Amino acid sequence: MKVLVLGGTGEGRELAARLLERACEVVSSLAGRTTDARLPVGEVRHGGFGGADGLARWLRENSVDAVVDATHPFAATMTEHAVAAADEIGLPLLVLRRPGWTETPGDRWHWVETTDAAARLLPDIGSRAFLTIGRQALHAFADAGIWMLARCVDPPEPPPTWCTLILDRGPYDVAGELTLLREHRIDVLVTKDSGGSQTSAKLVAARELGVPVVVIRRPALPAGVEVVDSVDRVVEWVGARR
Ligand code: NAP
Repeated sequence: MKVLVLGGTGEGRELAARLLERACEVVSSLAGRTTDARLPVGEVRHGGFGGADGLARWLRENSVDAVVDATHPFAATMTEHAVAAADEIGLPLLVLRRPGWTETPGDRWHWVETTDAAARLLPDIGSRAFLTIGRQALHAFADAGIWMLARCVDPPEPPPTWCTLILDRGPYDVAGELTLLREHRIDVLVTKDSGGSQTSAKLVAARELGVPVVVIRRPALPAGVEVVDSVDRVVEWVGARR
């Protein structure tokens, strides 16, 4: 059985390894935009497919039997294309989405629907913001009008002149995040609801310091898709199709 794993996430890497252990044929796909990306084991392809039609063509030409969308919860276009392509050629498709974050006592979270809404809200909440939303959406904050620190894996293009930039890849721990928030006197944190444990240290640090957090909600999934929230469930799903 040949499975295409749309990746670019820790779960995508874990899934590729688990499926290979079970003697599945796996091709992992990465968008190819991150320099020095962490690669999954096994066969890896890089770069876009050319939309849903391009993906459908690629799936046919490569005799793929099933598709797992293990992309980041905010990679909505890729997910949409995967659903459309699998639908077009009648392939089984499963979406793997890690659970989102939930507030716990002590958190001061403000949920918003979009990055633009987060940028509009910022000046009402704080005067020194820490943006942890990746480089693609950074431009939405250019006119927020307060002091901002942004942390990205790769440098944004063009480089932002309106914020201080840290290039770092993580993983991050609570002690490090506390130091960073204190050193820069951060009084509001901005994050996407990415979920997963790897980046939650910033949320713990914000809670400890009483720093409010603007949380951008995940884009909705296409209607009717089958979704699981763990690599174990995907492995079971693939196993049931062999
Ligand atoms: P996106 O906006 O949903 O996708 C834009 C286009 O990039 C897609 O239409 C597709 O091009 C290509 N693409 C995206 N993911 C791909 C993949 N895994 N393999 C091949 N092509 C892919 O995606 P994005 O938000 O830019 O994310 C790009 C990648 O970074 C994803 O793999 C995602 O898992 C990872 N990532 C994203 C975030 C985030 O916050 N968005 C965070 C961490 C990691 P074509 O239309 O030409 O096929």
